[in-house]
Amino acid sequence: MYGPKNHGWIEAIVGPMYSGKSEELIRRVRRTKIAKQKIQVFKPKIDNRFSKMDVVSHQGEKEEAIVVENAEEILRFIENDVQVVAIDEAQFFDENIIKVINYLADNEKRVICAGLDTDFKGEPFGYMPNIMAIAEFVDKFQAICMVCGNPATRTQRLIDGKPANYYEPVVLVGAQESYEARCRKCHTVPKNNGVR
Ligand code: ADP
Ligand code: ZN
Repeated sequence: MYGPKNHGWIEAIVGPMYSGKSEELIRRVRRTKIAKQKIQVFKPKIDNRFSKMDVVSHQGEKEEAIVVENAEEILRFIENDVQVVAIDEAQFFDENIIKVINYLADNEKRVICAGLDTDFKGEPFGYMPNIMAIAEFVDKFQAICMVCGNPATRTQRLIDGKPANYYEPVVLVGAQESYEARCRKCHTVPKNNGVR
Protein backbone atom coordinates (compact mmCIF):
# COMPACT_ATOMS: atom_id res chain seq x y z
CA MET A 1 0.00 0.00 0.00
CA TYR A 2 2.72 2.48 0.97
CA GLY A 3 6.13 3.08 -0.63
CA PRO A 4 9.53 1.94 0.67
CA LYS A 5 10.32 2.01 4.39
CA ASN A 6 12.92 4.56 5.45
CA HIS A 7 15.72 4.10 7.91
CA GLY A 8 15.36 7.09 10.17
CA TRP A 9 17.36 10.24 9.57
CA ILE A 10 17.20 14.03 9.78
CA GLU A 11 17.60 16.48 6.88
CA ALA A 12 18.10 20.20 7.51
CA ILE A 13 17.30 22.87 4.90
CA VAL A 14 18.68 26.25 6.00
CA GLY A 15 19.46 29.74 4.73
CA PRO A 16 18.17 33.34 4.92
CA MET A 17 14.71 34.51 3.86
CA TYR A 18 13.98 34.09 0.13
CA SER A 19 16.69 31.43 -0.28
CA GLY A 20 14.16 28.82 -1.38
CA LYS A 21 13.80 26.77 1.82
CA SER A 22 10.02 26.46 1.54
CA GLU A 23 10.27 25.67 -2.18
CA GLU A 24 12.77 22.90 -1.41
CA LEU A 25 10.63 21.55 1.45
CA ILE A 26 7.58 21.53 -0.85
CA ARG A 27 9.63 19.79 -3.58
CA ARG A 28 10.66 17.04 -1.16
CA VAL A 29 7.08 16.69 0.14
CA ARG A 30 5.80 16.23 -3.41
CA ARG A 31 8.44 13.62 -4.21
CA THR A 32 7.53 11.55 -1.15
CA LYS A 33 3.96 11.56 -2.42
CA ILE A 34 5.17 10.30 -5.82
CA ALA A 35 6.96 7.51 -3.92
CA LYS A 36 3.60 6.79 -2.21
CA GLN A 37 5.07 7.43 1.22
CA LYS A 38 2.85 8.68 3.99
CA ILE A 39 3.91 12.19 5.05
CA GLN A 40 2.80 14.74 7.64
CA VAL A 41 3.84 18.42 7.46
CA PHE A 42 4.03 20.69 10.51
CA LYS A 43 4.67 24.35 11.21
CA PRO A 44 4.69 26.45 14.39
CA LYS A 45 1.76 28.74 15.15
CA ILE A 46 3.88 31.94 15.34
CA ASP A 47 4.21 32.23 11.59
CA ASN A 48 0.99 33.32 9.88
CA ARG A 49 2.72 35.12 7.04
CA PHE A 50 0.38 33.87 4.34
CA SER A 51 -1.92 31.07 5.40
CA LYS A 52 -2.72 29.34 8.66
CA MET A 53 -2.87 25.78 7.41
CA ASP A 54 -0.37 25.67 4.57
CA VAL A 55 3.37 25.84 4.02
CA VAL A 56 3.60 28.56 1.34
CA SER A 57 6.66 29.62 -0.65
CA HIS A 58 7.25 33.21 -1.76
CA GLN A 59 6.35 32.03 -5.28
CA GLY A 60 2.93 30.96 -4.00
CA GLU A 61 3.39 27.18 -4.10
CA LYS A 62 1.75 25.46 -1.15
CA GLU A 63 1.28 22.22 0.72
CA GLU A 64 -1.12 21.49 3.55
CA ALA A 65 0.38 21.61 7.07
CA ILE A 66 -0.67 21.01 10.65
CA VAL A 67 -0.14 24.08 12.84
CA VAL A 68 1.19 23.27 16.33
CA GLU A 69 1.65 25.45 19.44
CA ASN A 70 4.94 23.79 20.49
CA ALA A 71 7.39 21.04 19.56
CA GLU A 72 5.88 18.30 21.76
CA GLU A 73 2.49 18.76 20.12
CA ILE A 74 4.00 17.31 16.92
CA LEU A 75 4.13 13.89 18.62
CA ARG A 76 0.45 14.06 19.51
CA PHE A 77 -0.48 14.43 15.85
CA ILE A 78 1.91 11.80 14.47
CA GLU A 79 0.02 8.92 12.91
CA ASN A 80 1.34 5.39 13.39
CA ASP A 81 2.16 4.55 9.81
CA VAL A 82 3.69 7.91 8.84
CA GLN A 83 7.03 7.55 7.04
CA VAL A 84 8.11 11.15 6.50
CA VAL A 85 7.73 14.16 8.81
CA ALA A 86 8.39 17.65 7.41
CA ILE A 87 8.71 20.72 9.64
CA ASP A 88 8.85 24.29 8.27
CA GLU A 89 10.01 27.41 10.18
CA ALA A 90 11.82 25.08 12.60
CA GLN A 91 13.76 28.02 14.12
CA PHE A 92 10.62 29.07 15.98
CA PHE A 93 10.29 25.85 17.99
CA ASP A 94 11.34 25.45 21.63
CA GLU A 95 14.18 23.21 22.88
CA ASN A 96 11.96 20.10 22.79
CA ILE A 97 12.25 20.13 19.00
CA ILE A 98 15.57 18.29 19.41
CA LYS A 99 14.01 15.48 21.48
CA VAL A 100 11.07 15.25 19.11
CA ILE A 101 13.05 14.97 15.86
CA ASN A 102 15.59 12.56 17.41
CA TYR A 103 12.70 10.39 18.62
CA LEU A 104 11.11 10.38 15.17
CA ALA A 105 14.38 9.60 13.38
CA ASP A 106 15.20 6.86 15.93
CA ASN A 107 11.82 5.36 15.06
CA GLU A 108 12.56 5.10 11.35
CA LYS A 109 10.98 8.33 10.19
CA ARG A 110 12.64 10.53 7.62
CA VAL A 111 12.54 14.00 9.20
CA ILE A 112 12.93 17.13 7.05
CA CYS A 113 13.44 20.44 8.93
CA ALA A 114 13.53 23.79 7.12
CA GLY A 115 14.35 27.05 8.87
CA LEU A 116 16.40 30.21 9.18
CA ASP A 117 19.97 29.50 10.32
CA THR A 118 20.53 33.13 11.41
CA ASP A 119 18.29 35.94 12.69
CA PHE A 120 18.25 39.55 11.45
CA LYS A 121 21.35 40.25 13.55
CA GLY A 122 23.25 37.52 11.73
CA GLU A 123 23.34 35.38 14.89
CA PRO A 124 22.39 31.66 15.16
CA PHE A 125 18.59 31.38 15.30
CA GLY A 126 16.91 29.37 18.09
CA TYR A 127 17.57 25.61 17.95
CA MET A 128 18.34 25.59 14.22
CA PRO A 129 22.13 25.29 14.85
CA ASN A 130 21.43 22.24 17.08
CA ILE A 131 19.21 20.74 14.39
CA MET A 132 22.02 21.24 11.86
CA ALA A 133 24.45 19.52 14.22
CA ILE A 134 22.36 16.37 14.73
CA ALA A 135 21.12 16.16 11.12
CA GLU A 136 22.58 13.54 8.79
CA PHE A 137 22.16 15.90 5.83
CA VAL A 138 22.41 19.69 5.76
CA ASP A 139 21.64 21.84 2.73
CA LYS A 140 22.43 25.53 3.04
CA PHE A 141 20.82 27.79 0.45
CA GLN A 142 21.58 31.36 -0.61
CA ALA A 143 19.20 34.02 -1.88
CA ILE A 144 20.24 36.98 -4.06
CA CYS A 145 21.50 40.11 -2.26
CA MET A 146 19.02 42.94 -2.92
CA VAL A 147 21.84 45.53 -2.78
CA CYS A 148 24.66 44.03 -4.88
CA GLY A 149 23.33 40.86 -6.52
CA ASN A 150 25.87 38.49 -4.92
CA PRO A 151 24.72 35.33 -3.09
CA ALA A 152 22.84 36.40 0.06
CA THR A 153 23.40 34.49 3.30
CA ARG A 154 21.68 36.93 5.68
CA THR A 155 18.27 38.42 6.36
CA GLN A 156 18.20 42.24 6.58
CA ARG A 157 15.50 43.67 8.82
CA LEU A 158 14.27 47.12 7.77
CA ILE A 159 12.13 49.47 9.84
CA ASP A 160 10.60 52.35 7.90
CA GLY A 161 13.12 51.49 5.17
CA LYS A 162 16.21 51.75 7.41
CA PRO A 163 18.35 48.91 8.83
CA ALA A 164 16.90 47.79 12.16
CA ASN A 165 19.04 48.36 15.23
CA TYR A 166 20.54 45.37 17.05
CA TYR A 167 18.46 46.21 20.14
CA GLU A 168 15.20 46.90 18.29
CA PRO A 169 12.25 45.07 19.92
CA VAL A 170 10.84 42.20 17.87
CA VAL A 171 7.36 43.71 17.75
CA LEU A 172 7.13 47.39 16.82
CA VAL A 173 3.80 49.17 16.99
CA GLY A 174 3.06 51.61 14.16
CA ALA A 175 6.29 51.02 12.21
CA GLN A 176 6.60 49.66 8.66
CA GLU A 177 8.70 46.55 8.92
CA SER A 178 10.19 44.49 6.11
CA TYR A 179 12.91 41.94 5.43
CA GLU A 180 15.24 41.39 2.49
CA ALA A 181 18.04 39.02 1.56
CA ARG A 182 21.58 40.43 1.73
CA CYS A 183 25.18 39.24 1.52
CA ARG A 184 27.61 39.55 4.45
CA LYS A 185 28.99 42.83 3.08
CA CYS A 186 25.65 44.56 2.54
CA HIS A 187 24.00 43.24 5.74
CA THR A 188 23.88 46.08 8.31
CA VAL A 189 23.04 45.94 12.01
CA PRO A 190 23.60 49.31 13.73
CA LYS A 191 24.36 49.03 17.44
CA ASN A 192 24.14 52.68 18.56
CA ASN A 193 22.28 52.18 21.85
CA GLY A 194 18.88 51.66 20.31
CA VAL A 195 18.85 55.03 18.47
CA ARG A 196 18.12 54.60 14.76
P1 ADP B 1 12.36 30.85 1.96
O1 ADP B 1 11.45 29.74 2.44
O2 ADP B 1 13.81 30.51 2.08
O3 ADP B 1 12.03 32.19 2.56
P2 ADP B 1 10.86 30.61 -0.52
O4 ADP B 1 11.02 29.20 -0.96
O5 ADP B 1 9.58 30.97 0.17
O6 ADP B 1 12.13 31.01 0.38
O7 ADP B 1 11.00 31.62 -1.75
C1 ADP B 1 12.01 31.51 -2.73
C2 ADP B 1 11.59 32.37 -3.94
O8 ADP B 1 11.58 33.74 -3.54
C3 ADP B 1 12.50 32.34 -5.12
O9 ADP B 1 12.26 31.26 -5.98
C4 ADP B 1 12.21 33.66 -5.82
O10 ADP B 1 11.13 33.51 -6.71
C5 ADP B 1 11.71 34.55 -4.71
N1 ADP B 1 12.64 35.66 -4.33
C6 ADP B 1 12.25 36.89 -3.94
N2 ADP B 1 13.31 37.64 -3.57
C7 ADP B 1 14.41 36.88 -3.75
C8 ADP B 1 15.83 37.07 -3.52
N3 ADP B 1 16.31 38.24 -3.03
N4 ADP B 1 16.66 36.06 -3.80
C9 ADP B 1 16.18 34.90 -4.29
N5 ADP B 1 14.88 34.65 -4.51
C10 ADP B 1 13.99 35.61 -4.24
ZN1 ZN C 1 25.47 42.43 -1.21
